[in-house]
Amino acid sequence: MQHVTILGSTGSIGVSSLKVIRSLPERFRICGLACNSNLDLLSQQIKEFMPAAAAVGDINICASSKFRDLKSLYKNVEFLEGESGIRELAGRSCDIVISSIVGSAGLAPSIAALEGCKRLALANKETLVMAGDLFMKLAAQKGVELIPVDSEHSAVFSLLHNQKRHDIERIILTASGGSLRDYPAEELDRVTPEIALKHPTWSMGSKITIDSATMMNKGLEVIEAHHLFGLDYDRISVIIHPESVVHSMVETVDGAVYAHMGVTDMVFPILGALVWPEKLRNSFGRLDLARVGSLNFRDHDSAKYPAIDLCYAAGRKGGNVPAVLNAANEIAVHAFLDRKAGYMDIVKTVEETMSRVKFIAQPGIEDIFESHREAVNTALSIIREKRI
Ligand code: MG
Repeated sequence: MQHVTILGSTGSIGVSSLKVIRSLPERFRICGLACNSNLDLLSQQIKEFMPAAAAVGDINICASSKFRDLKSLYKNVEFLEGESGIRELAGRSCDIVISSIVGSAGLAPSIAALEGCKRLALANKETLVMAGDLFMKLAAQKGVELIPVDSEHSAVFSLLHNQKRHDIERIILTASGGSLRDYPAEELDRVTPEIALKHPTWSMGSKITIDSATMMNKGLEVIEAHHLFGLDYDRISVIIHPESVVHSMVETVDGAVYAHMGVTDMVFPILGALVWPEKLRNSFGRLDLARVGSLNFRDHDSAKYPAIDLCYAAGRKGGNVPAVLNAANEIAVHAFLDRKAGYMDIVKTVEETMSRVKFIAQPGIEDIFESHREAVNTALSIIREKRI
């Protein structure tokens, strides 16, 4: 029996993780659940999985009568409160932590998780975007197995298994092209949140769906891949593949290209990360290629998707720059969703923030958090300036 803690249990990856774990009761037991604020869903999850402990991040929610009721309903469950409560839960001893808190808020819990677990199933890409060099070093020092859950990286991870390092020419990350892939480039300034939120193939949270529309998500994944697989940026490519059937590819020096295909459902990379290096029969569906019919690929257009080049530049520059880019993007995406910024302002705000925040070549972890805060404030003031 393996004990699993899920950070971000009420989000889309958390819910899929529990679906996988529900199907394997003889193999996994939930020992901890952490969420930010969704008490209704957390309550259902506690009832079903009876973890030893649960943590709620939002301190206002922790002060609510609903939270008090939840605590008195489950007297055998230990409740932890606030961001520090989530970090405490993350750092407790268990076999596997699934790190799936959305965005920059996931970094500190991912770091804490390295203290107590044997395997970290990493779905929070910001951990590696913000602090990749530090985090990879720390994971190695602590002897924690790092298994990617992001679908593209999960695909590359399994394709690279048993390949000799010097045989790898490059990896090719596939991208659906997001909700705006067939939208005319000259009309992008008219895109509303409703239009951008309609993702053609994957069902995900709103932040990542917007990131997928701008392809910032793919750019962040390039940085994530650089750290996970230790490859130079010129050996990581991006290709648009509207069907999202090929989850990514690896090209070897002899010109062969290996593709990882499957159903577009996060249960597969989650299951893969939980049982790696095993492969487990399951009932989550099968790919029917005859039904898919054809697979298409095309290059991405840098003019339409400037976010990708911006991420390559940030990744190559390194230091605190990817953390700054990520922070500015989070602020700009939320401003867009709140209708305080236009679609085209997202990348502009990120670019402007990157030019304003001071460069640190070799940041420590505190420098990363400080650069993040500085970039948040800078991006907020850029968006305010634009409104005047
Ligand atoms: Mg992905």
